[in-house]
Amino acid sequence: MARLNWGMIGGGEGSQIGPAHRIGAGLDGHFTLAAGAFDVDPAKGVEFAGTLGVAEDRAYGDWRAMLEGETARDDRVDLVTVATPNATHYEITKAFLENGFNVLCEKPMTMTVAEAEDIVATARKSGRICAVNYGYSGYPMVRHMRAMVAGGELGRVRLIKAEFAHGFHANAADADNPRIRWRYDPQQIGPSAQFADCGIHALHMASFVSGQEAEELSADFVSCIASRTLEDDAMVSFRMSGGAVLRLWTSSVAVGRMHGLTLQVFGEKGGLSWEQEHPNQLYWTPVDGRTQIIERGAPDLSAAAQRASRVTIGHAEGMPLAFANIYADLAEVIMAEKESRSPDPAATHYPTALDGLRSMAAISAAVESANKSGNWTDARPPSFRG
Ligand code: NAD
Repeated sequence: MARLNWGMIGGGEGSQIGPAHRIGAGLDGHFTLAAGAFDVDPAKGVEFAGTLGVAEDRAYGDWRAMLEGETARDDRVDLVTVATPNATHYEITKAFLENGFNVLCEKPMTMTVAEAEDIVATARKSGRICAVNYGYSGYPMVRHMRAMVAGGELGRVRLIKAEFAHGFHANAADADNPRIRWRYDPQQIGPSAQFADCGIHALHMASFVSGQEAEELSADFVSCIASRTLEDDAMVSFRMSGGAVLRLWTSSVAVGRMHGLTLQVFGEKGGLSWEQEHPNQLYWTPVDGRTQIIERGAPDLSAAAQRASRVTIGHAEGMPLAFANIYADLAEVIMAEKESRSPDPAATHYPTALDGLRSMAAISAAVESANKSGNWTDARPPSFRG
């Protein structure tokens, strides 16, 4: 496949989600990061673009300059990712769509329903892609759940239980921390905090898997930390388009919960259960049957799950990220040598030839021991023996 040109708005240095986009877009080699307006501070954005290898004439100080610059080019970006704070999504996404660009916008797509209706209409009119980053739907086993439901394996879906409940904004003493406070400020975040930030991921997952959309809902919002005007915990019940009931719990004060994203789907013929913190296993219990574990990478998975499986069965889904860390360490040490400086000590833990030697010595010793009915055998390399 020919490489596509890709651009980013937001996702600057130190941002939470920018690196995940760059890793994700870079993984398969389909996209070259060709342009960007990465930061709310133009100078910082241009400087950061340089460190990412973006050419000087495509390192833009702000998104309007990027729109103008890219629109004028023959090799304009094929896709623009909008990873700025929520209040800016609408204006930027609309402008790029109107000028004929494909867009991947972070969630929540807009601040209001009217803006969202307008984005849908603008995308239709432009004929361009407007994707929204409900990234958890990319997990292979989530796609397999969807295939099982669509294939009728659960029969009619009766109940769905979705949770996205973590505990990282639970400390009242931390409520005024600027990194947390904006998330509960209606001016910056809109009329909902926790439900808009995390609850909509759980809702999207429930719809994605069940094929049913929300028709009616009953919500109970609370602010467990009194200084917050917006909710930090919500319990929402939905009546779904296909007759299922969805119970959704989202929280940022559930101390001890980590990412806390889980999905259970209960049908006439059986139930499915999946947890994002253990993404490789899907639990399937046929009615009156035993619970079975469906492993990511198994040969009989749906085509959608197979396409999304990048590592062989048994390896954790994040395994390529561990490889990326080895490359990052090597890059730091090589760069440090070129720049005549000491490398970051944290980058020096990559395995070396010594580890290779120790492994070879262990293999040799294991073979020797096995051949001698398990005799204790020196496993050290010869050069390490006294
Ligand atoms: P952040 O505050 O950590 O980073 C925002 C970045 O955007 C910063 O680099 C900032 O300088 C830059 N920026 C701000 N305004 C800009 C502008 N006008 N032009 C160019 N750059 C600008 O925020 P974050 O946590 O990375 O969140 C960004 C968006 O991603 C939010 O909408 C958030 O809801 C979403 N998000 C999505 C997921 C997901 O799973 N899909 C996860 C986390 C965050």
